Amino acid sequence: MHYRGRFAPSPTGLLHQGSLLAAVGSFLDSAHNQGSWLLRIEDLDAARCRDEFTSGILATLESFALSSLLAVQHQSARTNLYDAALAELSASGRLFHCRCTRRELAALQATDAEPCCLGDCRTREINPAEASLRFDLTHLAPCELQDRSLGSIRFDPNIHRDVIVKRRDGVIAYHLAVVVDDADAGITDVVRGADLLQATVWQLGLQQALAVATPRYLHLPVIIEPDGQKLSKSRRSIAVDSDVATLAASLRRVLQLLRQDDPPASARTPREILQFAAARWNTGRFRGLHSVSTD
Ligand code: GLU
Repeated sequence: MHYRGRFAPSPTGLLHQGSLLAAVGSFLDSAHNQGSWLLRIEDLDAARCRDEFTSGILATLESFALSSLLAVQHQSARTNLYDAALAELSASGRLFHCRCTRRELAALQATDAEPCCLGDCRTREINPAEASLRFDLTHLAPCELQDRSLGSIRFDPNIHRDVIVKRRDGVIAYHLAVVVDDADAGITDVVRGADLLQATVWQLGLQQALAVATPRYLHLPVIIEPDGQKLSKSRRSIAVDSDVATLAASLRRVLQLLRQDDPPASARTPREILQFAAARWNTGRFRGLHSVSTD
């Protein structure tokens, strides 16, 4: 099957070093495999997303020569697809309203990245206006896949019992939108940060529920500070109007973090650096790494 990858930023801020690494990783994996590369703006949460972040992200990607021949997709223009998927899930009779708040769930299921309903919402009378919509996954079969870097990812309906498909505020939930969009675009390879590794289990469950193909997954190491903390604000931002030398230096830094070969000094522009890096792209260099430190 022809390789198709994607980069799917949420425009809740400008591109930063962490999201640049994800963009570069997915671009290079696609280019190395002579694939196509899709840009998808995940802008369903109108309260957090801003148009100027979308245009800033696209301009920055362009200046890094991270460009796509495919039309940019915007999730906010695709809500009819998500509604159709919701209708399909609803037809199986396994959607239910849930009133549990994130805080309540976090207190009880502290280790769970995406906590399940506490239990009795399925049988309670609940006002839909005050509730999120969940899909019951318990009837699905367990399944497992091998992440290309981080090993086994296992969806287990005894643990991942249900998932929010529409939030209490009416916004379509990330897991549903991402599964619908990846399937609709024929994405064969999802390459993204390891901070989304846990998210994959719910996406596997929803792929099964919607009877769509499961792509291959490659989770890239996330960048942390030398002391193990999350990347600080000052290191995160990338100025939109950076000059070529600064852009080239940022790209070289990202390639170092991904343990790739250093491009020769003769590669000066982002395009030249990416061309070199795509030919030499080697995922084995960061296999098994969940994080890499900035220094
Ligand atoms: N929109 C998500 C983010 O910016 C990425 C989703 C994905 O790659 O699956 O973190």
